[in-house]
Amino acid sequence: MRFLCDEMLVRLARLLRAAGYDTYLASGGEADAALLHLAREEGRMVLTRDKRLAAASPDSVLIEGLGVEQEALSLSDAVPIGWDADPFSRCVMDNARLREASAPEVARMPTSVRTGEGPFRACPACGRLYWPGSHVRRMNARLAAIAQTRLGA
Ligand SMILES: [Zn+2]
Repeated sequence: MRFLCDEMLVRLARLLRAAGYDTYLASGGEADAALLHLAREEGRMVLTRDKRLAAASPDSVLIEGLGVEQEALSLSDAVPIGWDADPFSRCVMDNARLREASAPEVARMPTSVRTGEGPFRACPACGRLYWPGSHVRRMNARLAAIAQTRLGA
């Protein structure tokens, strides 16, 4: 599954990328017609808070709720999402697939990180480095909580 999020769903798009899903995030000002065209071309499901945009797309989910957890649950109600499917395989900022960090990149990480187990990853697009630090733990906890909520439902 691949997604296209409207510009209102920045945090949901980042969460989907963190879970490993290929997710295009619209920037403000992109015309609905252009977004629908892109979604069709690339086989992306449209996720939107905009009823009109949802109605205009045959493959879309109208996202409701306040905050990213509610948005994630709203999405999970409509389609099965593996929130821990392939965590940290994509850059949360730009959607690029992460690669293994090179030795010089690992050398730039804090000592406490470098001596740990990894994995150590890097984004080929923006150069952002990923390691199992506090941000990753927080994101993993959030993904696990969402997965758990679905199990309990
Ligand atoms: Zn990146």
